[in-house]
Amino acid sequence: MNRDDCIRLDAADPLRDFRGKFDLPQGVIYLDGNSLGAMPHSAKSRVEQVITEEWGEGLIRSWNTAGWMDLPKRVGAGIAEIVGAASDSVISADSTSVNLFKVLSAALAMQPGRRVILSEPDNFPTDLYMAQGLIAQLGGRHELKLVTAKDIPAAIDADTAVVMLTHVNYRTGAMHDMKSLSALAHERGALALWDLAHSAGAVPVHLDADGADFAVGCGYKFLNGGPGAPAFLYVAKRHQEKFAQPLSGWLGHAAPFEFESGYRPAPGIGRYLCGTPTVLGMSALEEGVNLMRSADMKQLRAKSIALGDLFIRLVEERCAGHGLGLASPRDGAKRGSQASFTHHDGFPIMQALIARGVIGDFRAPDILRFGFTPLYTSYVDVWDAVEILRGILTTGIWDRAEFRKRGAVT
Ligand SMILES: *Cc1c(COP(=O)(O)O)cnc(C)c1O
Repeated sequence: MNRDDCIRLDAADPLRDFRGKFDLPQGVIYLDGNSLGAMPHSAKSRVEQVITEEWGEGLIRSWNTAGWMDLPKRVGAGIAEIVGAASDSVISADSTSVNLFKVLSAALAMQPGRRVILSEPDNFPTDLYMAQGLIAQLGGRHELKLVTAKDIPAAIDADTAVVMLTHVNYRTGAMHDMKSLSALAHERGALALWDLAHSAGAVPVHLDADGADFAVGCGYKFLNGGPGAPAFLYVAKRHQEKFAQPLSGWLGHAAPFEFESGYRPAPGIGRYLCGTPTVLGMSALEEGVNLMRSADMKQLRAKSIALGDLFIRLVEERCAGHGLGLASPRDGAKRGSQASFTHHDGFPIMQALIARGVIGDFRAPDILRFGFTPLYTSYVDVWDAVEILRGILTTGIWDRAEFRKRGAVT
């Protein structure tokens, strides 16, 4: 394998035309679309149009005339297609953390006789923090039980209210089997709640077919919705009207413009809204979602695995002897769209990479994380990134004071 082979792979890539639909700066190899997706050109023109025409000229009229009020359901229906859900079982709103609070509340309310939220210690912290906050809010009757991934099946018992897992682990990219774990949860009377932050737009997801009860996910990662883009949530149709979530804001009311003094939840998924949608952010997200919907998920997954496999193989061949250890599953079928390596100087090495234009990220304590977004990452990107990493490791240039300074975001 050499660079020319990568050029040939790019030329034969059925997704090659998507790269031109994104704004990517010259001289940058972007391997962090799992944290903040790149900007679709169409997002820029759409936001410009929303600002100048819909806001600037349409003003308040645009809630009706520009379809602002429909955005949460419309964008939700687009995301539903990507995550294998009925179009009226997903809605776009708020942040992933807030949405987790809503659906976890629903799950616990549906399981009055059970007190345990089962998760793993290396779930993304916000999921655990939100569960802790909700438990306190509910009077401390519940317990957040954390067991490592391999012990989860055995830990689901008669006291488990909900199994709350992130489908693709944010550090390692290891992917859970949604279908079998959801089925096992159901067999033992528990519910299954999935966080799709690193799955939506990255790997095939079949929420309905795989029996998920609830799900949440991010708009700004693989869906390319822009910084701080609204998130989404999923509630299986069979559960939607069993519970009214506690953030009972007016836009989740059955008739918000009747301005009644009592809360009556809207029918269906609409009751999971709280307040006014963030129109600018959700308009940008709609562009990212529509672009993703136009891609073939089978091709996307095949390329994602191929990019990850290539990266792992090249790092192991060309950077051997420099202390890097694979932290991701070697089997592409068990991995999300990222590859992670451990190194005890991971932080300065990543800073040196970023200074050379290879943007990945670092996750404490020792993980170098590289995301592959098949819509715009090329095989040549992977080759070049590994060569730059090799240069940094062989020269030891990462071991400079300037690369050890930490910003607020790593
Ligand atoms: C990125 C991420 C989040 C982010 O939550 P926000 O509320 O958008 O900040 C949540 N959960 C997981 C698993 C994530 O990876």
